[in-house]
Amino acid sequence: MKKIKKIDIHAHCNIYGDIAPNYLYNPTTLITPEKLLEFYDKLNIEKGVLLPIVSPDAHHQLLTSEATKTAVDKYPDRFLWFCNADPRQYATGKNDKPDYKHIIAHYKSLGAKGFGEFTTNLPVEDERMQRLFGICQELNLPVTIHISPAVGTSYGIVDDKGLPQLEKTLKKFPKLKILGHSQLFWTEISKSDKRELYPWGKVEEGNLARLLRDNENLLCDVSAGSGNRAFMRDPEYCAKFVEEFSDRIFYGCDICSELNTHPFVFEEFLDKMVEDKMISIDNYNKFVRLNAEKLLGL
Ligand SMILES: [Zn+2]
Repeated sequence: MKKIKKIDIHAHCNIYGDIAPNYLYNPTTLITPEKLLEFYDKLNIEKGVLLPIVSPDAHHQLLTSEATKTAVDKYPDRFLWFCNADPRQYATGKNDKPDYKHIIAHYKSLGAKGFGEFTTNLPVEDERMQRLFGICQELNLPVTIHISPAVGTSYGIVDDKGLPQLEKTLKKFPKLKILGHSQLFWTEISKSDKRELYPWGKVEEGNLARLLRDNENLLCDVSAGSGNRAFMRDPEYCAKFVEEFSDRIFYGCDICSELNTHPFVFEEFLDKMVEDKMISIDNYNKFVRLNAEKLLGL
């Protein structure tokens, strides 16, 4: 069977990759657009959504919106992009209520399709964060989030177990679409999970399904070890989850290094789920491509 070409909802690349420093834990740096496209060709991915990284707590390299757009301009058939900003910027001195609208509207006018990866290490309910969510709703830009357990622990927007602050935000901004991503988003899939990085084993339906049922504007970014493993850990639950939320799940990779292998493992898993008829071909097509086409207006 010839499979539909995929869209990767979660990608990063560095046009300066050749001169950037290596990671602490492996001898590579953030992947270049060219190397990322080699992955895409092997994984039957037509396009990826490039996400800038602008919070200093997030990474050893900042990826500006401008550099990200430059990669898109070089390969316009292969990449789309979201823009990014950090609400702590400009927040000093007299101007303690900075207005980001003109910045984000500027990027939107240049073609940005959304906002993220939002990794600012502040509580979701912080006024600066809420203002930013409001602007994205006003500008009709979906937001991709990475969740952290507490300020000062790891990068990401901060919420408690059960994601109560996120839920309040979803209700306050009902037209804002939020793409949930990261370990602490996906540990909500199972009741039994502690807030640890990569839980495994059978899923006992957790808070995530309820959040999705109660909040139509919550979407799932199934990228990275966190999203991929949340699907792979329990194929029966995965089948149910995909069936119920087939319009709100988005295939993604989050390839950060040329040594990453997780997208190939996930590829094998998905193929088997389709072959075993645990995921219908219609839902597979929505998951790997059609939902993204709709969200991004392609
Ligand atoms: Zn990412």
